[in-house]
Amino acid sequence: MKINLSFIMVLTLVFFLLFSCSNKTNEKFNENYLEEISTSFKLGDSIVVFKTYISGTQNIIYFNLHDDENTSVEAAKHVLNKINGKLIEIQASGERLISFNIDTTVYKFDPNRIFTALGREATLKRYSQFSQEADSIVNSFADYITDSLLKEAIIIVTLHNNTENNYSILSYVQGGEYETDATAVYIDKNQDTDDFFYVTEEDYYNKIKQKGFNVLLQDNSKVTDDGSLSVYCGSKGVKYINIEAQKGHLKQQEKMIMTLQSVIN
Ligand SMILES: [Zn+2]
Repeated sequence: MKINLSFIMVLTLVFFLLFSCSNKTNEKFNENYLEEISTSFKLGDSIVVFKTYISGTQNIIYFNLHDDENTSVEAAKHVLNKINGKLIEIQASGERLISFNIDTTVYKFDPNRIFTALGREATLKRYSQFSQEADSIVNSFADYITDSLLKEAIIIVTLHNNTENNYSILSYVQGGEYETDATAVYIDKNQDTDDFFYVTEEDYYNKIKQKGFNVLLQDNSKVTDDGSLSVYCGSKGVKYINIEAQKGHLKQQEKMIMTLQSVIN
């Protein structure tokens, strides 16, 4: 009798532990209810997949352009368990750049430098070479993104990750590499300079600043035409916000996405 009773107690304890652990896992992160859709685009001999995660009604589209910036995708998926929205993630080769072949020629480009003619030419030349045929393929790819994937977006929120001590909000202050691209910059003393918002509208700039986050306002008339989505949106009057965080700053990027939600609402 004694052995049986201990056995039952141990068994109960094991079940209790298993049950509470699995509950905790579910409570922490459950991406199961996110609806997933995949579409693809063919560039030369390469296929780029756009994986879309949908949660409820979608007035905001979160967009991840660089396939090696995974913290941002994780952060958005976590947040979409709590709020409505749509996340679109590029799945190419797992790298920042996308490459494709035409016959035996390799072409490479940065997917966030293709939304203007100047940008496409520069990025093809920088990473490979330029040809009319390659430019036309990359142009169709850019059109697919802006005119199909992002067409319904009331606000486009791009998600990026950077690395320590490289590109940061300090790049936009006096003496920084991109100082002429911003018309206003706010740096909060409590924030890491690698974590910042990049906006094209003054209203969002003021609201995010009030929340105590680093933020910069793009100078839509003077910004360098590098073909990035912010330049495209700035020239078309499309509401655009970039949430940029250091790689691995998962909780911070989640917090920034949640903060933006309260700003928009
Ligand atoms: Zn990026």
